[in-house]
Amino acid sequence: MQKRRTNIPTTLITSEGKLTEVVIGFLVGGFGFSESSLRNTVWKYGPGNFIYDHSKPNAITWFNKVYYAEIWSNEDNIAIWMRYIVHEQRHRYDIDISGGIRFYTSYLQDYFQQKRNVKEAHQAYLNIYWEELAYSDEYLMADILTKTDFLEQWEGLLETNPSFSAGFELGKKYFLNKF
Ligand SMILES: [Zn+2]
Repeated sequence: MQKRRTNIPTTLITSEGKLTEVVIGFLVGGFGFSESSLRNTVWKYGPGNFIYDHSKPNAITWFNKVYYAEIWSNEDNIAIWMRYIVHEQRHRYDIDISGGIRFYTSYLQDYFQQKRNVKEAHQAYLNIYWEELAYSDEYLMADILTKTDFLEQWEGLLETNPSFSAGFELGKKYFLNKF
């Protein structure tokens, strides 16, 4: 099958939709996500897949797959992708810990509960427990990305030493206060 052309940085996600070694190491060292949840994840172009077309989100994590939108596949900015990756991989980690069925059941229950409370759909979505966890990690990543020396070091690693251990060490260094 012909591979879809995308602008997704292959230093972060391979053309097979797998996270690269340096990204896996960084997310284990920095965020404490499990290595297996990172290794088992497949990132896929969303349109044409039932679960994506049904809800048309920016991205939806569905068991071990992350389906993303057309606009994401055109995005080539490494910093923006790091935020996307952290958010969705947090869901992946929580899905593996809780079990998929329990995760999605509680996700929907929480959404409808929140919707009764706050009425407005987007705010209800932001109030979902699992989204609060994912956004909190995403904002932590965004915060680190504002530190100019971080992005320089990260891009340097991607080019010169994209290994699991180098990613792990950099993650640990920047997130020491988190644990
Ligand atoms: Zn989310």
